[in-house]
Amino acid sequence: MHPVEPAYGTQDCNACGARNHILLSQLTFKCDSCNHEQDRDVNAANNYLQKGLKELGQDMPEVTPVEIQPPLPVITPGASRAHETGTVRGGYASSEAHRL
Ligand SMILES: [Zn+2]
Repeated sequence: MHPVEPAYGTQDCNACGARNHILLSQLTFKCDSCNHEQDRDVNAANNYLQKGLKELGQDMPEVTPVEIQPPLPVITPGASRAHETGTVRGGYASSEAHRL
């Protein structure tokens, strides 16, 4: 069970998300923006369902259209090439050998 804020559940369009002014006496929801028409209670129920699922991070993309972006490529700008012990730089064998 997950509590959902009831604000605007009956006024928001379940199809496009536009907020409409719906009178309490109106039994059918009709969106001024996209002409979506549905039983007022069904529209509200769908709004609460989507809201609840979204808050839980389980919203359904097929019900709530969202812009999906491809995953970002993994870039590690700070990483440098590893040098193995004994790597020769500039013609000299590295540090250790000269200290003896
Ligand atoms: Zn609409």
